[in-house]
Amino acid sequence: MSFPCKLSVVVPCYNEEGNVSRLYDETLMVMRERGISFEVIFVDDGSTDGTMRQLEAIAGRAHSGVRVVELSRNFGKEAGIYAGLRNASGEYTVIMDGDMQQSPEVVLQMYDWLESHPEDDCVAAVQEKRREGAVISFFKRCFYSVINRAASVEFVAGASDFRMMRRNVVDAVLEVSDYYRFSKGIFSFVGFKTHYMPYEARPRGSGKTKWSFFGLIRYAIDGILGFSTAPLRITTWVGLVLSVLSFLYLVVVVVKKLIYGDPVQGYPTIVSLILLLGGLQLLALGVIGEYLGRTYMEVKHRPVYFQRRVIDSRDMKKTDSADAQSDENTEYNNRE
Ligand code: UDP
Ligand code: MG
Repeated sequence: MSFPCKLSVVVPCYNEEGNVSRLYDETLMVMRERGISFEVIFVDDGSTDGTMRQLEAIAGRAHSGVRVVELSRNFGKEAGIYAGLRNASGEYTVIMDGDMQQSPEVVLQMYDWLESHPEDDCVAAVQEKRREGAVISFFKRCFYSVINRAASVEFVAGASDFRMMRRNVVDAVLEVSDYYRFSKGIFSFVGFKTHYMPYEARPRGSGKTKWSFFGLIRYAIDGILGFSTAPLRITTWVGLVLSVLSFLYLVVVVVKKLIYGDPVQGYPTIVSLILLLGGLQLLALGVIGEYLGRTYMEVKHRPVYFQRRVIDSRDMKKTDSADAQSDENTEYNNRE
């Protein structure tokens, strides 16, 4: 099978005006040095700053294939990744953040690994040392221990969506058309042979992270609900245990009344039991509701994203390709 290029670099961007240009230049330099034919697919996820202008400028001056996919609004990073993968055509595809935290040198290491290990289908970068607070890392540890117990697929701590895949893996990921997309889970779900490669993330180039504490909690809940039905099973078990306990208590009350003639003093007990059971019932309904809501959204089969327009440097260059070619060579020679 022949591919238009060796490597597709997919970059979801949301308000990254200060980073995309530097990211492109750095990637270009690293790939050029090794002579790897590559394309970059920038997905503008409804940015409200000047990101789109920057991306247009990059496509205009690009010395390699650059495709800019502008989404019709902000759909979230997961949808951005999906849009990017759909537009990628390389033999290998790597997903990278647009904030400079992940360096093109690591991309090169992943590339070398896939080139020299035909038995592996995917290389995932794993962040070992994390620059984050104790509270967040405590919650992350809890999340992994819960989800690995609850879900049938394995979640590797520290592995993000920074990974390079062969075409077969990309095709498999694209076949999972979930509306609630949780990449970590989807990558584990599709399987294939994955090599985990340690790396250290750099600080963000500019701007700030889009994750808030509650955003992360919501993300964790999405992951658990998306890949496991354990919460429903736990609800059943809690119901069962409580029913058995209530039955035993009923026997105690009846026996006390019949044998000892003791008309159990009950107001506080009754009130606390009603409140406890009411609370548990609402909780159980809530858990069922979460699954039902997701089922509702999934059965609607709404598209994960909409593209507003696509700009491709390869289309733009048609008229002045000779100039571009000579530009390219000058630039390349200058560096050497
Ligand atoms: N991102 C996106 N859409 C969103 C939020 C984030 O495409 O709604 C992109 C963002 O521009 C960046 C990547 O996802 O390229 C990771 O985001 P961020 O740096 O905020 O996350 P962190 O690195 O802190 O996990
Ligand atoms: Mg980041």
